[in-house]
Amino acid sequence: MKKLFFGALMLGLMTACNTDNVSNQNEAPADEPTVSAAIAQRGCASEEIRQEALKNNAELRQRFTDLEINTENFAKGVKFGKVLADGTVEIPVVVNVIYKTTAENVTDARIAEQIAVLNADYSGTNSDASKIPSEFASVSSGDTKVKFRLVNTIRKSTSKTSWSTNDDMKKASKGGIDATNPTNYLNIWVVGKMTSQGRTILGYATFPESAGLWNDGVVIGAPYFGKTGASAPFNLGRTATHEVGHYLNLRHIWGDTNCGNDLVSDTPTQTTANYGKPTYPLYNTCSGVQRSVMFMNYMDYVDDGAMFMFSAGQKTRMQSVVATTGARAGLRVY
Ligand SMILES: [Zn+2]
Repeated sequence: MKKLFFGALMLGLMTACNTDNVSNQNEAPADEPTVSAAIAQRGCASEEIRQEALKNNAELRQRFTDLEINTENFAKGVKFGKVLADGTVEIPVVVNVIYKTTAENVTDARIAEQIAVLNADYSGTNSDASKIPSEFASVSSGDTKVKFRLVNTIRKSTSKTSWSTNDDMKKASKGGIDATNPTNYLNIWVVGKMTSQGRTILGYATFPESAGLWNDGVVIGAPYFGKTGASAPFNLGRTATHEVGHYLNLRHIWGDTNCGNDLVSDTPTQTTANYGKPTYPLYNTCSGVQRSVMFMNYMDYVDDGAMFMFSAGQKTRMQSVVATTGARAGLRVY
């Protein structure tokens, strides 16, 4: 019976491929499926073969599990609105305010202002984007497809007048505030005065290799957070734009050493950091090659009013971090 059925099927396939299309329906026994019925019922062995392969291969089983975790995370991201229709990833933000003075206890309005600056800068809709020199317009990031949404603000008073970069502000036991689930939320700590080796520090951030660790996030000095009441010339909210850039794996544009490498090919090599408000064009020479440098990039050290762009290469690095396979994929899952 089986052989006969197989034979009929083979004959059917041959017939199907035969342009002469000779009908052999009359040859099929009455109690057997007709040839046309046999090919009308689709058969597919993929899942059976997969299950057999998974049974015998531990590495494949692991790959299968990873695949399904990634798929589930992506689906959750879509469900909770963390991945918007155009592919934008919306990062939930928790702002932790640790204050001694009233001025350090930044208002809700100022926090909203800071989130708005992040959203403008990361979407390329900042009003000063019009100042991007035409030389760099073609490598401007435009919309990085990363957005930010404030989900909670936690406040705590302190008697401390100054903080260092030793992460004490991230420990409740040291007078700080413990991070809110840093795998799933961008934690920003706002503190008063902050110094390192005698110098005032505007802020600092962890890079993506620290994703989910207790100290993961961004710290910003209150005078440089938001706009209203902030301290010029760092009063346009760009310290957060810069620090979140590090959080999403961007390096300083000069590569942190003379004529260094920031691992982005569309940012011209430059000798070192720029400060203040440089005048365009500004030329640097590295390895005998003179280049007009992109000092208006958020990852340089210029004043808030002098920085107004990311590059396309920087966008790619940030996108890779928030992708479902990225180090910060957790930011799209509650
Ligand atoms: Zn930096």
